Amino acid sequence: MFADRMKNLTPYTPGEQPQEGGFIKLNTNENPYPPTPLIKDFLSDIDASRLRLYPDPTSKNLRQEIARAEGLEPENVFIGNGSDEVLSFVFFGFFDGKYGPLFFPEFTYSFYPVYSGFYNIPYKKIPLQGDYSLDIDSYLDGDSTGIILPNPNAPTGICLPLEKIKYLLDNYKCGRLVAIDEAYIAFGGESAASLINDYENLLVVRTFSKSSSLAGLRLGYALGDKKLISALNTVKNSFNSYPVDFIAQRCGELSIFDSSYRKDVISKIITTRDSFTLKAINLGWTVLPSKANFVFARKDGLRGEDIYMRLKEKKILVRYFDKEGINDFVRITIGTDDEMSQLLTTMEGL
Ligand code: PMP
Repeated sequence: MFADRMKNLTPYTPGEQPQEGGFIKLNTNENPYPPTPLIKDFLSDIDASRLRLYPDPTSKNLRQEIARAEGLEPENVFIGNGSDEVLSFVFFGFFDGKYGPLFFPEFTYSFYPVYSGFYNIPYKKIPLQGDYSLDIDSYLDGDSTGIILPNPNAPTGICLPLEKIKYLLDNYKCGRLVAIDEAYIAFGGESAASLINDYENLLVVRTFSKSSSLAGLRLGYALGDKKLISALNTVKNSFNSYPVDFIAQRCGELSIFDSSYRKDVISKIITTRDSFTLKAINLGWTVLPSKANFVFARKDGLRGEDIYMRLKEKKILVRYFDKEGINDFVRITIGTDDEMSQLLTTMEGL
C-alpha cells in the first residue's frame, strides 16, 4: 500500500500546541501581541460569498506591497503558505547532490535535514564555534550544492552582521544558491535583502509568523533575483497553484502596510528580551546573546529536559532539544513582561 519513498521519511516535530488552556506558552516563538487592528476590521467584514472564487494564484497585491516596502520589484517576491513551504520549494528547486552536499549549521532549524531527506539531498552540518556563533570561512571550504543559514540562527538566536553575509557571497566560489532564512531578522538583525540587486545567487526567506503576529495564518515569502523567483513559481505551480488563500493575502498586505504598529510590537519584544536576559544572568543563568524573539539559556547542573519538565509543572512551556551539544539548553520565546516575570520567579526556584 505504501510507496517505497515513505520508508525513509523522518518528519519534523513541531513544538507542542496544548489544547487545554492555562499555559504560559513560550515554546514556539509565537508573538505574544495581536496583529495590526486593521486585520481585525478586515476579518469582521469578510464577504463569505467571496470564498466561491479561487484566490489570485500570483498574490499580486501582496507581492507589490512587499516589494514597495523593500525597494524591490514585485518580480523579486515569491509568496508561500508559511516560510516552511517556501523553504521546501527552495530545497526542491535549488539543491541536489551534483555539486557536493548542502551546507548548513550543525545546530540550526531542524526542518533543514528533514527537507534534505525528503528530496534526497546530501548535506553537511558545519560545526558552530565555541561561543555558538557561525564560522563563515568553514562554509567556503569545499564544494557544495548550496548554503542555507538562518540569520539570526535558531535555536541560538545569535545573529551574523551583514558584512559577514556579504563576505560569504563574495567568496563563495561554487556560486550556487545562498539562502538566508530571516524568520527572526526583524528583532534586531540587519537584513540581507539590501544585497539582492548585487548577488543573483542570494535568496532571502521571511515569514509573517513572528514579527507580524500571524503564525496562525501561514504566510511566508522569499526575496531574490527574478530568475530565482521564477524558478520558485515553477516549483509551486507543479505542486499547487493556489497555496495562499485570499484572506491570508489581504492580511499580509495590511500587516506590511501598518509598519508603525509592527515596529511598536517588535520594539516592545526587544525591550522585554533584553531586560529578561539581564535578570536571568543575575540569577546565575547563561543566556546567549539573542537578536531574535527567543533566547537560548541554561543553568549549570540542569539538563534542558529537566528545566522543561520543571517549568511545565508550573504551567510554563519552553522547548528543549535532545541533541548532544545543546541538550543542556532551553529555548525560551519572549512573551509579555508579565509572562516573563512569572517565568523569572519560577526560574529562581530551580
Ligand atoms: N525558519 C525558521 C528558522 C523557523 O524557526 C521557523 C519557525 N518554526 C520557520 C522558518 C517557519 O516559519 P513559518 O512556517 O511559520 O513561516
